[in-house]
Amino acid sequence: MFSVLKPLPTDPILGLMAAYKQDTNPNKIDLGVGVYKDELGNTPVLKAVKKAEAFRLENETSKSYIGLAGNLDYCQKMESLLLGEHKTLLANRVRTAQAPGGTGALRVAAEFIMRCNPKATVWVTTPTWANHISLFEAAGLTVKEYPYYDYENKDLLFDEMINTLKQVPKGDVVLLHACCHNPSGMDLNEAQWKVVAELAKEVGFTPLVDIAYQGFGSSLEEDARGLRILADAVEELIICSSCSKNFGLYRERIGACSLIAKDSATADISNSVLLSVVRSIYSMPPAHGADIVNTILSSTELTQMWHQELDEMRSRINGLRTQIKETLATKDIAQDFSFIERQHGMFSFLGINKEQITRLQKEYGIYIVGSSRVNVAGVSDANIEYFANAVADVCK
Ligand code: PMP
Repeated sequence: MFSVLKPLPTDPILGLMAAYKQDTNPNKIDLGVGVYKDELGNTPVLKAVKKAEAFRLENETSKSYIGLAGNLDYCQKMESLLLGEHKTLLANRVRTAQAPGGTGALRVAAEFIMRCNPKATVWVTTPTWANHISLFEAAGLTVKEYPYYDYENKDLLFDEMINTLKQVPKGDVVLLHACCHNPSGMDLNEAQWKVVAELAKEVGFTPLVDIAYQGFGSSLEEDARGLRILADAVEELIICSSCSKNFGLYRERIGACSLIAKDSATADISNSVLLSVVRSIYSMPPAHGADIVNTILSSTELTQMWHQELDEMRSRINGLRTQIKETLATKDIAQDFSFIERQHGMFSFLGINKEQITRLQKEYGIYIVGSSRVNVAGVSDANIEYFANAVADVCK
């Protein structure tokens, strides 16, 4: 049976990680993989997480199954983190299933959409996180793209985006990045979210919000603003969230899939289908990550500690954005890199070509993805000059 298979290329980012590991250049810099890094290039376990883990080790009393929706206290905490004290929560219109990471949440959402409307098309931004496309297609859905990033002007193609979304058939799904768009770093502003929310109502598409970087852009509240604007306006919404970045829990695989339905009765029916989807994929989610997040969010002290650590990560990223812009401006380069400061989250496209990207890797040991997406958190005080000089050299 296996002999019919043809080898598939390695995921480009994973391939880049492997090449970086083997590189013996002492000045090498990894700007590829999408994890937060501190000044020393490490991705440490947050102190609040360590404390919650110590508590869990002492107090866990059973390894029995936790149920299809996972840890219900965690689910409720995630709803509050995402929506605040939103009217949809007060009206009992929200249901949440814990999921294995944001990816797991998206896959659950994809299967849920298949149960609602197997003919639905999922519309994603051009460009988007590459896994969005493979993930929805693997579930059997059609994926189409709508204009989003303006590579030339390093801005949003907002008018083009709206013109395309106006043509989306009723019953389709439109995926939106809540904040810190991956890979471009370009986010919608409040007025633009309002336009999209009105359009969703008018056209009749269902928004699916992917929120994988809450707290990495402006603040926990600000980063959820667009999501809440949509929830104010529409009857139905799907939210896929992840605690990989903001809690630094990447490998624990913790996220959630939340549904907002038009009323409580429809929410119950939708939830029964959501849980049946979960049952048929992985039966029940793993416990550890949800327990850690729930322990942190149940304790004022740990929540404060987490907020502080999250603020530190965000400040470092935003500070680096300014520093990168300023350092590149001191070099003799024709290109304007000031857009880096206007964008949010860990990613931006440098906007350099394939040949320049290859030269950065071969001549300087600087690893960035083929699209020119850089993880700004890979830059530090120690390597910023080296990085800027290298960019200046390949841009000459
Ligand atoms: N959505 C986006 C936009 C992402 O960038 C990522 C992570 N790279 C995810 C979802 C999934 O995150 P997780 O690691 O929690 O599966």
